[in-house]
Amino acid sequence: MEEYKIRIQNAKQVIKNADYILIGAGAGLSTAAGLEYSGESFQRDYKEFIEKYHFEDLYTASFYLFSSQEEKWAFWARLIKLNRFRKPLKLYQELLDFVKDKEYFVITTNVDGQFETAGFETEKIFPVQGDYRFLQCENACHNKLYDNQEMVEEWLKHTENLKIPKQLVPKCPVCGGNMEMNLRKDANFVQDENWYKQAKQYEQFLDEIEDKNVVLLEIGVGFNTPGIIRFPFEQMTYKHLKTILIRMNKDYPMVRQEIENKAISFDEDVNKVLNDLKERAL
Ligand SMILES: [Zn+2]
Repeated sequence: MEEYKIRIQNAKQVIKNADYILIGAGAGLSTAAGLEYSGESFQRDYKEFIEKYHFEDLYTASFYLFSSQEEKWAFWARLIKLNRFRKPLKLYQELLDFVKDKEYFVITTNVDGQFETAGFETEKIFPVQGDYRFLQCENACHNKLYDNQEMVEEWLKHTENLKIPKQLVPKCPVCGGNMEMNLRKDANFVQDENWYKQAKQYEQFLDEIEDKNVVLLEIGVGFNTPGIIRFPFEQMTYKHLKTILIRMNKDYPMVRQEIENKAISFDEDVNKVLNDLKERAL
């Protein structure tokens, strides 16, 4: 049997045997699911912004320092609408099929909310780095987040010449200062009550699975912030007797030697791998 098929067979078996699945997901999952951060759809969807600000990709664009709040929120309205408030992505829905009958939890550095959109239970998702859905005070003067869904619709409706009207610019209800996206990029990142609650749920899940049959399903996690998912997942695989790591990663599929016999790694396309895993039901 060819080597890929053996890996698929093995992965099928360990997923079948697992009582617990912990998903760790990074940018690679959303890219595989079709959210484009560069390339053709980026060029099309952000055409006017690219012409004006010379953006090269969405990631660097999200760090751009706009010279006015009116311009800033016109850009973010488009980004949030396209990446956060959208129809569920098929790949995420397929992923849900793998875990819905198990005890599962999701830790992710993705901020696009796609696990929630696909139907994963909100209290089983820990989006460590923030969520496009929320605003916070730019000065982090208080620990509260503000749902931006309705604002985004208003901003989109009233944008002219890549600006929203002055009266729609969000202001902090406490200090009166500017608002910011709730994304971790500096020390001002607000971790609200819910963030701490999810962090605790994650801790509890980790305690619970220590001696259980566990699959760590790591997808598209690179080396931007390896301390959040990648390294801890490797540690758990090494330390816990009944924990197996399945790593799906096009760019960094390598696995440390110490856990080679407890890990199955795929550098093939995630869509293909999940499809092949699904064949002849688990
Ligand atoms: Zn404030």
